[in-house]
Amino acid sequence: MKTQTRIRTYLVFFLVMMVMTTLFNFTTIQAKEPIKVLIVTGQNNHNWQDSYLILHKYLSESGLFAVDLAISPEAGGNMSAFRPNFANYQAIVLDYNGDSWPDATNNDFLDYVKKGGGVVVYHAADNAFRKWKEYNEIIGLGGWEKRNETDGPYVYFKDGKEVRDNTPGIGGSHGNQHEYVLKLRNKKHPIVKGLPDEWTHCQDELYDRMRGPAKNMTILATAYSDKSTRGTGRDEPLLMVIQWGKGRIFHTMLGHVGKEATHPAVECTDFIVTFLRGTEWAATGKVTQKVPSNFPTKK
Ligand code: ZN
Repeated sequence: MKTQTRIRTYLVFFLVMMVMTTLFNFTTIQAKEPIKVLIVTGQNNHNWQDSYLILHKYLSESGLFAVDLAISPEAGGNMSAFRPNFANYQAIVLDYNGDSWPDATNNDFLDYVKKGGGVVVYHAADNAFRKWKEYNEIIGLGGWEKRNETDGPYVYFKDGKEVRDNTPGIGGSHGNQHEYVLKLRNKKHPIVKGLPDEWTHCQDELYDRMRGPAKNMTILATAYSDKSTRGTGRDEPLLMVIQWGKGRIFHTMLGHVGKEATHPAVECTDFIVTFLRGTEWAATGKVTQKVPSNFPTKK
């Protein structure tokens, strides 16, 4: 090999290495980039002052998410300046059940979801905004706030099949808090893939008689609402996903946090695991988290 050719070969080799190193670093940085999540709270008929801290802790400690907060003014306060920058985030966790947002905020939120933003509807966030049509399409099913047959059908499982029931009646109720068994209705969805077919969830409310548009909604898990705990005698949907526009929505009805000193419903492993997996899926369409070995089984 002539000296000039050899120098050229070295140069080309050197350049290729530089490009590869840069690309490798770039990919590594990209892979470590945390998922940007915004928790929206500030008003709720629940103890939001505790729940948002608990959700924030789980998300942050997972190492997967960078979490910001949007805390609204208190009930009856001036909401006109409440305008979170939804577009800055990959997932919005809704822990809000209160006064209407300004029109501009509502429009920003719909625009964010329409373009492919992720949403996590947590527990009583599905009580909110009965009169906001698109919000109800996004949550799929809602309850309380005088919801009734005009808000959509009841949705539950009967004899292994999903039922839409237009019977008139109230939307949203629950019996006594108790431990109950969750049953998977979809084993392939990334959020629940690898979870046991059935497991016992810790003491919690079991939402029932929920009604809503329930369009583009896939039920992931149900629980039997036993009449002995003042339930409906139906298999009620508690974990589900909804598509709205290009947006992915994970809706968990689990996780009651009240005025009591302890909050068992959000402290159990299955709540934490499904919440974190659901948030990652809503944000990215994938779940990279492994199911932990201490995930509960059916008692
Ligand atoms: Zn509750």
